[in-house]
Amino acid sequence: AEERAARAARLESLGQLAGGVAHDFNNLLAIILNSAELLADETGDQGDQAAQDLSRIRAAAERGRELTSQLLLFAKRDTREAETIDLNTVVTDATDLLSRPIGPTITLRCQLCPATVPVSANRGHLDQILLNLVINARDAMPHGGTIDIETGITGLAEGPAQPLPAGSYAQLTIRDNGTGMSAEVKDRLFEPFFTTKPEDQGTGLGLATVYGIVADAGGTITVDSTPGAGTTFRILLPLATQQPHTFPSQPRTQQPH
Ligand code: ADP
Repeated sequence: AEERAARAARLESLGQLAGGVAHDFNNLLAIILNSAELLADETGDQGDQAAQDLSRIRAAAERGRELTSQLLLFAKRDTREAETIDLNTVVTDATDLLSRPIGPTITLRCQLCPATVPVSANRGHLDQILLNLVINARDAMPHGGTIDIETGITGLAEGPAQPLPAGSYAQLTIRDNGTGMSAEVKDRLFEPFFTTKPEDQGTGLGLATVYGIVADAGGTITVDSTPGAGTTFRILLPLATQQPHTFPSQPRTQQPH
């Protein structure tokens, strides 16, 4: 527990530092990007050397913007209010958005809890959790594969409307059958700036952000991974209500691809 508190404090101060730098840097990048766009308009697209240089400037500035927006999120500058929201709805909406970035070689399957899964959270934060975990799963499957997303409530038995057992949690599971990871990578997974991806692809902030969001919400995240077989992330979040839930006999399965 002590180690966890120290880790949280370390993440917190790193987050504040990163957030401050990112904010100022983001403004500078906006100027660079804006000027490069103006210049491109003024000079026109002649396919010459200058145009190529300009497009490199724009691409790098765009990449910088992606980085700083990740940093800002990591620093949790996004302080929108928490709302009570059904995890099933978040997953359904996000999978629509995710079908393009994951590409045609990857199948995305969802198994939604037949009952609603109310959690109290910032919608954007929940989207970020899903986005980061699904994109990581995609990156772990360069030759294609399957991503399974499941929602549930721990301890909920099948049957008609029933009160929830005490200590129930909302559960979100994301599983891939990709490369998996070594014990060394698994140990460092949630560290800010830890990445095994090429410099222009990874920031190492995705899972640190997910970790921070989940911890702030009073939840936990665990990972189970086998090299060559795949990885499962399991997130538990406190339920927003302990009301009885209706449990229809057939689970809803959704298969967008
Ligand atoms: P990034 O995606 O920018 O590298 P993350 O914090 O999201 O940063 O992930 C850190 C590292 O954890 C990744 O570089 C990768 O090595 C490993 N990782 C994360 N998710 C998975 C996964 N589903 N399968 C295999 N490795 C993963």
